[in-house]
Amino acid sequence: MNDGYDAIIIGTGQAGPSLARRLSRAGMSVAIVERHLFGGTCVNTGCIPTKAMVASAYIAHAARRGREFGVAIDGDIRVDMKSVKARKDGIAERSRTGVERMLRGLPKCQVYTGHARFTSAREIGVGDQRLNADRIFINVGGRASVPLMPGLDQVPFLTNSSMMNLDTVPRHLVVVGGSYIGLEFGQMFRRFGSEVTIIEMAPSLVQREDAEIASAVHEVLLDEGITVRLNARCLRVSGDAGSIVAHVDCEEGSPSIEGSHLLLAVGRVPNTEDLGLDAAGVSRDDRGYIVVNDQLETNVPGIWALGDCNRRGAFTHTAYNDFEIVASNLLDGTARRVSDRISAYALFIDPPLGRVGLTETEARGEGRSILVARRPMKHVGRAIEKGETNGLMKIVVDAQSKQILGAAVFGTGGDEVIHCVLDTMYAKAPYSLLQQAMHIHPTVSELIPTLLEGLAPPES
Ligand SMILES: Cc1cc2nc3c(=O)[nH]c(=O)nc-3n(C[C@H](O)[C@H](O)[C@H](O)COP(=O)(O)OP(=O)(O)OC[C@H]3O[C@@H](n4cnc5c(N)ncnc54)[C@H](O)[C@@H]3O)c2cc1C
Repeated sequence: MNDGYDAIIIGTGQAGPSLARRLSRAGMSVAIVERHLFGGTCVNTGCIPTKAMVASAYIAHAARRGREFGVAIDGDIRVDMKSVKARKDGIAERSRTGVERMLRGLPKCQVYTGHARFTSAREIGVGDQRLNADRIFINVGGRASVPLMPGLDQVPFLTNSSMMNLDTVPRHLVVVGGSYIGLEFGQMFRRFGSEVTIIEMAPSLVQREDAEIASAVHEVLLDEGITVRLNARCLRVSGDAGSIVAHVDCEEGSPSIEGSHLLLAVGRVPNTEDLGLDAAGVSRDDRGYIVVNDQLETNVPGIWALGDCNRRGAFTHTAYNDFEIVASNLLDGTARRVSDRISAYALFIDPPLGRVGLTETEARGEGRSILVARRPMKHVGRAIEKGETNGLMKIVVDAQSKQILGAAVFGTGGDEVIHCVLDTMYAKAPYSLLQQAMHIHPTVSELIPTLLEGLAPPES
C-alpha cells in the first residue's frame, strides 16, 4: 500500500505529537509512526515515572524524619515497592494513553504502529506500507548506552527501562554512572531501603557542574548512607543474578563491590542506526546523532530532526522547544533558532539542583570578566523552616554587561526557583532588575535579590 501525506512524523516522543497537532490544525494531512510506547522515553521510562518514584522516596524519607517535626509515626517505615510501582505505572499510563488518544482524534492524522525506515528521501516504510511526504520529521529519541565492559555479556544488568519493572527493593543496588540518571535512581533506592553504591570513573560526581556544587551533591548522598566510588577505572563485572561483583581500580576503597543488582547509567545513544538514513541521504555525526542546522533541518531539504536524536539537547524541554522552533518557522513564518535558547536543566535528587546558563568554570573558560555570589541554604529562612537546609545557591554575572551568565540553585525548591533567573536571562536584563524585584516572603526565591548583593570578583 502506498499512502501520500503532507507530512510524516517518526516517533511519538516529546516533539512529534505536538507537531502532529499543529500540522493537523493547519489543515495538513499527517502520518505519525510509533514502534513501541506512545509518549516515548519521558512518559514511559524517563522523567514522568522517575519523578513519581522520587516522590515516593521523598515521602519515605520525610516519614523517617517525622519526629524531628513533632510527628510520631509508630513502628517501622517500610516501602511497599509493588505499590510504589503501581502508583508510578498509573501516572505513566494516563500520560501514555492521553498521547495516543490525542493523536488518534486529530483530523487528517493517521497513526501507524511499527518500525519506520526511510526507503528514499520522500518515502518511509512501515511493515508492508509505504508512506510518502514532502516533509518528514524525525523524532526517534535515544536509549541507554551499554558500554563494552568486560563481563557485561555474562551478568544481568538493568537500565532506566528495566528499572521500571522492579517491584521489590534490591538488597544492594550498584549504580555505574555518577551523573543525573544514576544519582536520581541511587538516592531514591537508598530511601526505599537498598544499600546503594555509585561508581563513577571521573574524579567527581556530576562533573559538568562547578566543583563546589558537585561536592555539595556528593555530601548529601554520603549523608544518606550512599557509598560513592570515584576515579573508578578498569571496571569489569562478574557473578550471577542476585550477586554481582563490580571490580574497580579506584584510589580508595575495596577493589570489588558485591551487590544484588547492577544499574548502568552511563549515557544515551540515539535510535538512528536502523532508520534507513543512508537511503534518504541524511548525515549522522561520529556518534550517530543526526546533523542539523540552527533551524533543525538536516542536510536533505524537507527532512528535519527533533529531540534527543539531533544532539542539540537531551531533555524533554529541549525536544519540546525543538517542536516550537520547527512549527513556528514552518507555519508562522518566523526564523527561530536553537542557538537562541539558554541551557537549563535540573537534577531531581532531593534537594533538587536547578541549573541555567554557564557554570563559573565555563564562564572563566570563555575568558570573561565575571562577578560571582553564593549563599548556603542554611542561610535561607524558608529552608530552615522546612528543615531542608542542604545545598547552596550560586550566580555568575558578566562584570561588563551586568547580565547574568548562569546560576545554580541546589536546595529545596531549586528546580522552580531557578526560573526567575532564567527569565531574567531571556529578557537580557541586567542583574539589577532581579535585585530590585520584590519577591514573596517566605520563599527561597526571595533570597535571589539578596544573593545578588554579594556579587564580587572571584578569587583566582
Ligand atoms: C531515567 C530518565 C530520566 C529523565 N528525566 C528527565 C527529566 O526529569 N527532565 C527532562 O527534561 N528530561 C528527562 N529525561 C530525558 C527525556 O526523557 C528525553 O530527553 C526526552 O524523552 C527526549 O524526547 P524525544 O522526543 O527526543 O525522544 P523519545 O521520548 O525517546 O521518543 C522517541 C520515540 O520514537 C520512537 N521510535 C524510535 N525509533 C523509531 C522508528 N524507527 N520508528 C518508529 N518509532 C520510533 C520510540 O519508540 C519513542 O517512542 C530523562 C531520561 C531518562 C532516561
